[in-house]
Amino acid sequence: DIDCVYEALLNTAIDIDSLEANSHLDEVCIKEVIKKAGMKLKWSKLKQDKVRENKDAVRRPQADPALLTPRSPVVTIMGHVDHGKTTLLDKLRKTQVAAMEAGGITQHIGAFLVSLPSGENITFLDTPGHAAFSAMRARGAQVTDIVILVVAADDGVMKQTVESIQHAKDAQVPIVLAINKCDKPEADAEKVKKELLAHEVVCEDYGGDVQAVHISALTGNNLLALAEATITLAEMLELKADHTGPVEGTVIESFTDKGRGPVTAAIIQRGTLRKGSILVAGKCWAKVRSMFDENGKTINEACPSMPVGIVGWRDLPSAGDEILEVESETRAREVVDWRKYEQEQDKNKDDLKIIKEKRKEHQEAHRKDREKYGSLHWKERSYLKFQARKEQKFLKPKEKTERDSNALPLIIKGDVDGSVEAILDILDTYDASHECKLELIHFGVGDISENDVHLAETFGGIIYGFNVNAANVIQQSAAKRQVKIKLHKIIYHLVEDLQEELSSRLPCIV
Ligand code: GDP
Repeated sequence: DIDCVYEALLNTAIDIDSLEANSHLDEVCIKEVIKKAGMKLKWSKLKQDKVRENKDAVRRPQADPALLTPRSPVVTIMGHVDHGKTTLLDKLRKTQVAAMEAGGITQHIGAFLVSLPSGENITFLDTPGHAAFSAMRARGAQVTDIVILVVAADDGVMKQTVESIQHAKDAQVPIVLAINKCDKPEADAEKVKKELLAHEVVCEDYGGDVQAVHISALTGNNLLALAEATITLAEMLELKADHTGPVEGTVIESFTDKGRGPVTAAIIQRGTLRKGSILVAGKCWAKVRSMFDENGKTINEACPSMPVGIVGWRDLPSAGDEILEVESETRAREVVDWRKYEQEQDKNKDDLKIIKEKRKEHQEAHRKDREKYGSLHWKERSYLKFQARKEQKFLKPKEKTERDSNALPLIIKGDVDGSVEAILDILDTYDASHECKLELIHFGVGDISENDVHLAETFGGIIYGFNVNAANVIQQSAAKRQVKIKLHKIIYHLVEDLQEELSSRLPCIV
């Protein structure tokens, strides 16, 4: 089947005679394909490229344990709406900015770093809530090491609390519990811990391993304890990364900056990113022109777990895209080309599926036809169909004056029996689905005759000829009577022409 469509596309000027007995059905399918803009070119290009090898870039194999050095944890804050996620993030960021000597202009790069007095760092992803978390995970990206689950002590475990727990569990990311709003008189931290037992989040007081910290995001109370608990957990996880070799990372956000063009915010996961590195992400690539941190400060290096804004992208990759460093611009282009090609192939597979379904429909219709008309000669069959059509829709061809302006009267002439039948079959498929109806007033084999012209004049119709001629006298007579004669040698040209005629007759929709 595929080959047949390939063939048809590469050689669209098919002669109907060269088609097999019932292959006019294929013709309809082929037309469907050609209708899709540019398909022919795409397909022949694909055919050429069929031999191409996988040119994708992939992550490096596991690093030698000797190369691994500790890295900071990357944390996502999750929890029910209004339980204080944004307030907590804001407070953490502000604490950080206050701790900095010269406050730069804060840049939104999807994450920020908090340094503890002990010298440890924590990277907080900026977008709270599990929507962003699961969107990234759905794209295969896992950047989060630890989830801080925020539960308001005055409200307890709610729907999104449970969902957040589920997301963390699915991703196998451990939880630190932040019992928030403990400044409120009605706060009941114990109730929260008890409720969490039902969701298999067991705090240390209850014999489990989940650390719970009582905080107030609003007043900033106990935030250091929360950060320390996070570091403790990170130490237990023994988070390590290879700081050497080609960079690997994940895009957490991407945006276009007025001055800098396409920018990505990324978390580096392996290697050390430097100016001049060549990166690929999704179907985009970059030569790193500059890098900056969340304070807008230019940086020269970005190590694992560091959030970084990267300038130098040719296009805009998407959040969740994996970033990989490659050795050269040529290699980057090759990878991007390969990925685009792969995507195109997937798309073509989908197109092909649609074509196959269409073909099945047509074949089914054809089979029903055969059942109905049995082994009748094509002419009898076509005649019966013609009669049936007349009975169903056009009880009798109407006179010019009373004709429906949305109908297109037709006369079809073909060189051989098979071609006329093929055209009639194609017309069948158009008939029902168009606003402008076809009104077949005559069909037959042979060159265009004076009789055809007279008929066309009477009904205000058009004559379509397939592989037939119209003598000069006939042409002149037609011109005099303002009758259009359209001659074609390729069926789908004829059908396309017909389609154009049909759409030109559609009522204007204002
Ligand atoms: P989010 O939807 O989880 O991001 O919640 P927000 O951070 O927007 O907080 C919702 C509301 O709770 C806001 O009015 C906050 O001021 C308030 N809030 C957040 N944290 C605390 C807290 O520790 N104590 C008190 N009293 N209110 C808080």
